[in-house]
Amino acid sequence: MPITRRTVLQLSATGALLTGCSPAGENAPAAAARPAAPSPSPTPTPTPNLPDQIEHGPRTRPQLALTFHGQGTPAEAEAVLAAAEKGGARVTVLAVGSWLDAHPQLAARVLGGGHELGNHTQTHGDIGAMDEAAASAEITECAARLRRLTGSQGRWFRPSQARLTTPQVVALARRAGYPHVLSYDVDTLDYTDPGPAAVRAAVAGQAGPGSVVSLHLGHAGTVAALPGILADLHRRGLRAVTTSELLT
Ligand SMILES: [Zn+2]
Repeated sequence: MPITRRTVLQLSATGALLTGCSPAGENAPAAAARPAAPSPSPTPTPTPNLPDQIEHGPRTRPQLALTFHGQGTPAEAEAVLAAAEKGGARVTVLAVGSWLDAHPQLAARVLGGGHELGNHTQTHGDIGAMDEAAASAEITECAARLRRLTGSQGRWFRPSQARLTTPQVVALARRAGYPHVLSYDVDTLDYTDPGPAAVRAAVAGQAGPGSVVSLHLGHAGTVAALPGILADLHRRGLRAVTTSELLT
């Protein structure tokens, strides 16, 4: 087929820090440190033609990725996952490490549902404003928890509190085994709790083939919006797939 297979955006290193994924705070207290996994999974290699910071996938196929900031109550997480499964959707949960410390059973729950699990820092602080050592720890500490709980640190890292991050964070993520940072091109602003209708309308109005949609676990409005979001996508012939499937 003559069309370029990937149409992802190339981002400049000076990309603006436009929006936060979620407000700071509400971080679950970190549990006592546990031993790291004995053997990290193999470091994934960079994928040709993907930029350092991925905003979306190919626009040529009728599929998109619903990606969730992983924090909040287990009941709300379960409600989102169950609704996704009922609607035939696969989602991506970018887990905050302190959330995994508080609710370690959710790692297996996500993967058991056929979904994808990734890294969204250890404490969800403003990683772009941290010094190198602190920013690195945010990435590696969450990665260690993912490895311990699942045997894999996951393929995707999403920075905290910014849609696009700094060159330093991109480099630290690469060093930690995440060759590409996962951004997004559709911000539903669901973390501001605008109500289920507004969240549903944001996806209906802004998402299309190849989109990476930012959503958040831990918000009742997002839970309530999801069945409608999935119905809209089904009506439009769009499948919600994991991020890795979208970008394959
Ligand atoms: Zn977030």
